[in-house]
Amino acid sequence: MNKRKVYLDNSATTQVRKEVVDAMIPYFTEIYGNASSVHTYGQEAKQALSQSREKFAKLINAQSSEEIIFTSCGTESDNIAIVGSLLANEGKHVITSKIEHHAVLFTCQNLEKNGYKADYISVDKSGRINLEELTNKITDDTVIVSIMHANNEIGVIEPIEEISKILKEKNKNRKNKILLHTDAVQTSGKLKLDVQKLGVDLLSVSGHKFYGPKGIGALYIRKGTKISPLFHGGHHEFGMKPGTENIAEIVGMTKALELANEEMEEESKKIYELRNKLMDGIVNKISDVVINTDMKYAVPSILSVSFNYIEGESLLLMLDMAQIAASAGSACATGSSEPSHVLSAIGATPISAQGTLRFSLGRYNTQEDIDYVLDVLPKLVEKVRQMSPVWNNR
Ligand SMILES: *Cc1c(COP(=O)(O)O)cnc(C)c1O
Repeated sequence: MNKRKVYLDNSATTQVRKEVVDAMIPYFTEIYGNASSVHTYGQEAKQALSQSREKFAKLINAQSSEEIIFTSCGTESDNIAIVGSLLANEGKHVITSKIEHHAVLFTCQNLEKNGYKADYISVDKSGRINLEELTNKITDDTVIVSIMHANNEIGVIEPIEEISKILKEKNKNRKNKILLHTDAVQTSGKLKLDVQKLGVDLLSVSGHKFYGPKGIGALYIRKGTKISPLFHGGHHEFGMKPGTENIAEIVGMTKALELANEEMEEESKKIYELRNKLMDGIVNKISDVVINTDMKYAVPSILSVSFNYIEGESLLLMLDMAQIAASAGSACATGSSEPSHVLSAIGATPISAQGTLRFSLGRYNTQEDIDYVLDVLPKLVEKVRQMSPVWNNR
């Protein structure tokens, strides 16, 4: 029996790097003080916190470390960015896209239930946002535009710099500046993040998507941005995220981003080649497939494929029995039978959307992993199709 295990679900979460674990351990066992305490234990923890903040700020080209707050996850960063902006500024309108992660999408839907107004901008076949529609939706009431940097299901990268230019133009004649937020959870550690170049006011990051620990995130808040906290308590994180700081994970996430930035060029080239090999193999060996990821605009790590006429979930389970881990669309959507909102937005037919899998590659994948998948996958697709009435009656 094959003993190979292949993890192709790196957009759901990643293995924590050994260097990251090593960097974190002393903050559990030795330097465990509360960063707010006056004694040496506390001061050592505080020093680690401020050093991490300095480093993190540099890694995303922020102007000052005071523009970084550490949060509990990407979801929390997204919530603080959007809800916090609406609480602090005049106006009740948020603009986002139809293909956001639920951390943004459901936050906006919930705001609508509470007297705010939200618009969800459509995307083209590649998943790229309609800039004209976005421009036309801006009103005097608009407080914030939140568009993801790269999508977690199909990998498409959105034109954040162009959106920033549009907003800068609009902001020239406005008293209340429209803020720009981007959920960069799928690009941090994969693309070089530069908040100046992107022209964003707010940017969300999550540690566990780039070989850091789970339950830690960051939010970049450009100096001068009016924003209110969602939780109240101590003065931690400039009052934006009260609660005793999670020093070990802050150190770990910062280390992970540092390593990712150093190795980015080499690593993305490797992952890009593996992803293309996987795609070419699938297209050559399996009939009736649709590639949902537009290679021209996508991050190198994600490949979304629709295997027409089958249930993605059945294929997923068979792959799991062969020790191959992938995902149906996005990890967060599992358990629901609705077609993914992202696939609907790019115009996928129901017959395609149903049989869609997301393969997301990472730094630990090898050529042999892909060879193994390309050996197993065509046989499993054939098997699932033979059992499928829609395939037999097509
Ligand atoms: C994973 C993910 C999130 C959520 O991050 P958590 O740290 O798990 O809360 C948000 N946005 C995108 C695009 C993601 O892929």
